[in-house]
Amino acid sequence: MKYISTRGGSEPVASAVAIKTGLAPDGGLFVPGSLPEIGLIEAAAAATQGYRELAGEILSSFLSDYSGAELRVVIEKAYGGNFDTPEIAPVHLTGEKMGFLELWHGPTCAFKDLALQALPHLLKAAVTKTGDRSEIVILVATSGDTGKAALEGFRDLPGTRVIVFFPDQGVSEIQERQMTTQEGENTSVVAVEGDFDKAQAGVKRLFADKELKTAMHRQGMAFSSANSINWGRLVPQIIYYFWAWFKGKENGLFPADEGFNIVVPTGNFGNILAAYYGKRMGLPVHRLVCASNKNNVLADFINTGFYDRRRQLYRTISPSMDILVSSNLERLLFELVDRDPAAVSGFMGRLQEEGCYQLGGQAHTRLQEDFWGGFANEEETMATIGDVYREYGYLIDPHTAVGVKVCRDYRRETGDHRPAIIAATASPFKFTRSVVQAVMGEESCRGKDDFALLEVLSEFTGEEIPAALRGLQERPVRHRLKTPPEGMKEVTRQILGLN
Ligand SMILES: *Cc1c(COP(=O)(O)O)cnc(C)c1O
Repeated sequence: MKYISTRGGSEPVASAVAIKTGLAPDGGLFVPGSLPEIGLIEAAAAATQGYRELAGEILSSFLSDYSGAELRVVIEKAYGGNFDTPEIAPVHLTGEKMGFLELWHGPTCAFKDLALQALPHLLKAAVTKTGDRSEIVILVATSGDTGKAALEGFRDLPGTRVIVFFPDQGVSEIQERQMTTQEGENTSVVAVEGDFDKAQAGVKRLFADKELKTAMHRQGMAFSSANSINWGRLVPQIIYYFWAWFKGKENGLFPADEGFNIVVPTGNFGNILAAYYGKRMGLPVHRLVCASNKNNVLADFINTGFYDRRRQLYRTISPSMDILVSSNLERLLFELVDRDPAAVSGFMGRLQEEGCYQLGGQAHTRLQEDFWGGFANEEETMATIGDVYREYGYLIDPHTAVGVKVCRDYRRETGDHRPAIIAATASPFKFTRSVVQAVMGEESCRGKDDFALLEVLSEFTGEEIPAALRGLQERPVRHRLKTPPEGMKEVTRQILGLN
C-alpha cells in the first residue's frame, strides 16, 4: 500500500518512507492510498489470541512493505511487560452503558504509550529497510505527556537519540520529574524558559535550520519527528479501537446489535481520527463523540463547519487538550472533501493566513454524520470526577472526565443511548491534584506537593500508585539543562557533539 500527501504535491511512497519522513515534503500529511477493510470475523479471531495478534492483523494491513517477521519484532517489543497488564488496554465497565478503554497501563501512564512504544521500532526498521545509515535524532517539544512517552519509547534504542524540550513554566511537578529522572544513554531533556509555544516554535526552527542539517549530515545524523503527524504514531492507535469492540462484546457491554459510540477527549485530533479510521474499516460504530475542554475549537467546528483559531488559549486542568490548531484534522478534511488535495490546501492556507476557514455544506453534513462535538468547562470536569467516583467507585483523570461529561450531553441532546466506549487517556494518579480535590475536597490538598498527594489518593481509594510514578521524588535527577528559547540551537549542537 502506498501513502499519499493530503496536499497532493508529493509522490506516493511506501509506509517505511512515510514513517521515516514524518511530514510529507509538500507540507501535507501522509495518508494511506485507500483504507483496508478488516473483516470482523478475522479481527475477533486474532483478538481472541490477544492484543499482539490483533496488532499484527491491523499493522500488516497498513504497512504492507514491512515483512511479517519485521512486524512481529516491533509488536513483541511494543506490547509486553512494559505494560502493567497483559490485556494492554482493558475495558472497565461502570454503569450507564459506559465502557472505559483504559489506555494508561504503559510506562508513562498516558495513552501516548500505546503508539510511542511501537513507533521507535517501526522507525528503526524503516531506516534499515530504506538503506539509510543515519543515526536518527528525534526532537520533541512537549506540554507534558508526549515528551516522557517519547523518552521511554526511544531510550537505549541503538541508532537513535531523543531530545525533549519542555517549557519550564508549563508542566506539572510530576510530569517534570518524570522527564528529568529519565534513564537511557541516548536521552536528553532540556527545560526551555517560557511557555509551550516558545518550546514548540524553537523545535520548528531547529527542524528548518539548514546549517544544522548540514552539520548533522556530515556526522551521519538526521532529524525525525515523533509527534502525531507521523503515520507511525497514528496506525498503532487503530488497534485499540478494534480491541475495545472485541472486549465490549466479550464482557456484555453490547447486548444488542445496535452498534456503539466512541467518545474521545481530544486535543490534536490524533486519537479520535484513529477511531474514525476504525469505523471506516468496518467497526460497527454509530457516532464519534469529540470531547473538548474549555478550548472548544473542535466542538464549535463540528457544530458550525467554521474553524476559528483566533481566540485565547486557556490553561486547564486537562492540559494535554489545551490546543487551538489540531494538526491531524487535516487528515479528516481530506476525507470530507473526497480526497481533493486542492481543497485541503485551500483550507490550510486560509488557516495559516487568516486563522479560520469554512467547510462547504456537503462536507459539513458528512462531518456531522460521523461526529458529534461538545465540551466541558473546569467546574463540570471536576464535578464529573467526583460523581463518577461516588457513583461507581471508579477514579478517572480530568481528560477522561471531559469525555464522560460530553457523553452524557450527547445522550441527552440526541436521545441516542447506545453503549459507549470512552477513551480513558491518562491515569488519575498522573493528575493527582485535581483528582484529590474532586473526590476528597480542597482541604486535603492544602500544603501538599504532588508527590505527597499520590500517597493521599492511594490511601483514600485503596488503589496502588502506578509503578511508573512510585518513588518518583527519590529518583536521581539526571537532566538539568536549561536554556532561553534563543539558546536551543546551541544546546542541541552541544548534545549532539557538532562542531
Ligand atoms: C495527548 C492527550 C490527549 C489528546 O489526544 P489527541 O490525540 O491529541 O487528540 C488527551 N488526553 C491525554 C491524557 C493526552 O495525553
